[in-house]
Amino acid sequence: MEKVYNHKKVEKEVLKIWRKENLGNPEKEKGKTFCIIMPPPNANGRLHMGHALMLSIQDTIVRYQRMKGKKVLWLPGFDHAGFETLVVFEKELEKRGLSRFEIPKEGLYKEILKFTNQKKKEIRNQMKELGISCAWKYEKYTLDKDVVKLVLETFERLKDDGLIEKSERLVNWCPKHKTAFSDLEVIFKEKNSFLYYIKYGPFEVATVRPETILGDVAFAVNPQDERYKSYLNKKVKFEHPLTGEKVSFPVVFDKRIDPNFGTGIIKVTPGHDFFDFELAKKFNLPIIHIFDENGKINLKGSKYYGMNIKEAREVIVKDLELKGLLIKKESYLHSVPVCYKCESEIEPRPMEQWFLLLNKKFKLPKKLKKLTKKDYASLKEIALAGVKLIKFEPPRFKKILIDWLKQIKDWNISRQVVWGIKIPNSEDVFDTWFSSSQWPVVTLKSFGNNVFKKYYPTDVMETGYDILQFWVSRMIFMGLYLTGDIPFKKVILHGIVRDEKGQKMSKSKGNVIDPIDIVQKYGADTLRLGLLMGNEMGKDVIVSENKFIGAQRFLNKIWNATRFLILKRKEIEKLNRKLKEPKKFSQESKKILKDFEKFKKEILTLMEKDKLSLALEKLYKFFWFTFADQIIENTKKKIAQGNFEAYFVCERLLKEELKLLHPFLPFLTEYLWKKIGNKTLLAREGL
Ligand SMILES: [Zn+2]
Repeated sequence: MEKVYNHKKVEKEVLKIWRKENLGNPEKEKGKTFCIIMPPPNANGRLHMGHALMLSIQDTIVRYQRMKGKKVLWLPGFDHAGFETLVVFEKELEKRGLSRFEIPKEGLYKEILKFTNQKKKEIRNQMKELGISCAWKYEKYTLDKDVVKLVLETFERLKDDGLIEKSERLVNWCPKHKTAFSDLEVIFKEKNSFLYYIKYGPFEVATVRPETILGDVAFAVNPQDERYKSYLNKKVKFEHPLTGEKVSFPVVFDKRIDPNFGTGIIKVTPGHDFFDFELAKKFNLPIIHIFDENGKINLKGSKYYGMNIKEAREVIVKDLELKGLLIKKESYLHSVPVCYKCESEIEPRPMEQWFLLLNKKFKLPKKLKKLTKKDYASLKEIALAGVKLIKFEPPRFKKILIDWLKQIKDWNISRQVVWGIKIPNSEDVFDTWFSSSQWPVVTLKSFGNNVFKKYYPTDVMETGYDILQFWVSRMIFMGLYLTGDIPFKKVILHGIVRDEKGQKMSKSKGNVIDPIDIVQKYGADTLRLGLLMGNEMGKDVIVSENKFIGAQRFLNKIWNATRFLILKRKEIEKLNRKLKEPKKFSQESKKILKDFEKFKKEILTLMEKDKLSLALEKLYKFFWFTFADQIIENTKKKIAQGNFEAYFVCERLLKEELKLLHPFLPFLTEYLWKKIGNKTLLAREGL
């Protein structure tokens, strides 16, 4: 055996063995089934540290389950990632001096498909370098024909149940990306702007958006506000502050109006404000669109026509000032909704979109009746009933999810981009999460009912806590809706990968550590060890190159200890060829073995509870400080005295430790397992 641990040689040889043995293919295994559907990486970039973390955790789980005698299906896949991919591709186009709006839709789709197919290939190869034991023959892509067919069937079924509505509603619109978003894709930023006090008909009105005066249709006040009581059910006639036309606005009363904001009376712009849109529905007010898809004023004939929001605001404020209608302006700090991708201010815009109605009740099939104890319920209600059956690690995320589900609103599932699954009879495509939400069902169903029945509900969904709402919640109601069963029995959530300063890794910050670089420099086992050590589920993971350098020392330690024992065996055999393990051990040896049994039980208990990092830490400490530093050291002395029994105790312990360490450090342990004389595959040994 080589003197020094060479990760490149070890990992190359072991990969060959696993490939030959078809590791990962569930048909090669017997026993009870165990299934994880891998969160499909976006087919638009490289494998990053977040992926490496997710793959390390899941591979550890499935390897453990396999060694517990389960028939494991870990189903890999890729996501076309609709809008996300479009943004990446747009940057590629920009490098070539092009814009997506200049390329015909058909050609653009084909180009992006080619791009994602190339990326899939690259990421797949990178995943293979990590040595993960997923079932490659079950790989799925969200744009596979059979997947798309099932997604469209779901859409039809939802329509039949009356849960899809195409209607004009105010939606979150990004003027740069020219698409609508769901509420989840909108983030809020603190911004300093002005609150303008304007003489508006008979009133003084405060607003942060004077440019929307062009779309105003009413005033609104709180019914408790004494100042405006005399206007109840009245209309006011006045000269429009910008156009000078004679207009007549109703004054509506609604208790949600804050009497302490500005002067207590607000202007109502249903075309460009979510709350005002609700008021318009309640009081039957007209809705005026004043901005086009680029965020420019679309009122033909108006002097403001074609101006963008910023320009229009400046000119309109000036005009009001000239007319003596601007009373004052105050600086004002408020939070504004922005696009999660480009941080452009979101412009609420009335548009005809497809909505999934999450609060509408529908007639339940048998299984869901039993679950909810109701004949009719909404998707939200079935999700709230189903989530109770799912375990969470860490458990605190269950409450977060329930609270979120309780306030869930209708889901805008249409996007105005070319890249995605087309909504039938529409120019739009589905929100990428619409297909993702069905992932556990459609992946398994695409292999036929037998596979589906065998593995659904899946056992574990392991993913990042940052997509609990985007993905986990939606898989729960869609899984229940489509099958009557929860899609997974347990949810395990990991944190976000951050650098030493606690910052997220990003190209622009220049703090990215590429997992494949680490694999090449220190090995895939070291990468896993660095990512799993000290990583408590649900907490963010700090990653630095030093961590990997430290991790590799442990691999060297295992290598050296094993090599020492192999050499000792040869020495002993030279002295006594027929030497065998004694039938009976001494009291001292028995105690060591008994203590180890206890230790092993502790490890298995931790693994069952998904406390991977705690188990790993204990294994690390035991190997280093108890096994190598004490037991092997004592054995050296005993062998020197001609007592060989202690050697056999070491050999037993080493075998067991390699098994327990295998889910965490699969390459090195598999390699050493062979070196100490085993012919079988460690990955399929029983624990
Ligand atoms: Zn945007």
